[in-house]
Amino acid sequence: MINKKIVFANWKMNLDADSISTLVSDVSNKLKRVENVDIILAPPFPYIIKVTDMTKNTNIHVSSQNVFFEESGAFTGEVSPLMLTDVGCSWPIIGHSERRQHLLETNEMINKKVLLCTSNNLNVILCLGETFDERRQNKTFQRISDQLTRGLREVNQKMLGKIVIGYEPIWVIGSGEAARVEDIQEVHNFIYNQLRSMFPDSENLPRIVYGGSVNQTNIKPIVSLENVDGVLIGNASLDCEIFCDIVLTVGCLLYTSPS
Ligand code: PEP
Repeated sequence: MINKKIVFANWKMNLDADSISTLVSDVSNKLKRVENVDIILAPPFPYIIKVTDMTKNTNIHVSSQNVFFEESGAFTGEVSPLMLTDVGCSWPIIGHSERRQHLLETNEMINKKVLLCTSNNLNVILCLGETFDERRQNKTFQRISDQLTRGLREVNQKMLGKIVIGYEPIWVIGSGEAARVEDIQEVHNFIYNQLRSMFPDSENLPRIVYGGSVNQTNIKPIVSLENVDGVLIGNASLDCEIFCDIVLTVGCLLYTSPS
């Protein structure tokens, strides 16, 4: 189970009720035979219930794009892990670079979210990645290491099995051009080795997925790399044909049109 590849669709602040209905219905129809890939859709908050309803009894899981680090209380505008569970959403995205940048999320806040979600039985994807300046200044590994150790502070073995790491080099997100495969390989190996040294006894280390301008033409070389267990997709996940193409490539499935 833990070795399954994984494809996340992060729709960000896009789409509306009608386009989401069409997209979810088309995607679930086209991907209904895919069994060897975890397929996860992350709609904006107002549409989560719609998507969980539409994907009940399918092979598709639903994610949120954020979550708060308290269970309940006076936190206007926030959504707790318990609420997500209540509506069938089981995979919050935590620490996306856009939230770190625009909402000033810190590693400490992100760590609290990871701990609260995983101890409440939710799966999470913890996103991290370096800026262009950090890469230019050879600070990539320092930055990744810092985000990893601080984001996973106090995580125990049981929680670990519920975590996926999303490596997203910030400057390639939304740029239309993915990072070079050599660079992706190098950072994924680094993350794997760091996880191995942080959790030497663990049999199920987190899967590591790549995100940043993945599309139907670059998916194959990326997902074939060692220690790349899947992808996180933004723009390309808004197009049913492209998204399904990516999932089918990841699953290496032959797809024949349903009648
Ligand atoms: C993202 O924001 O997580 C992402 C990967 O976006 P894009 O695929 O558009 O680069």
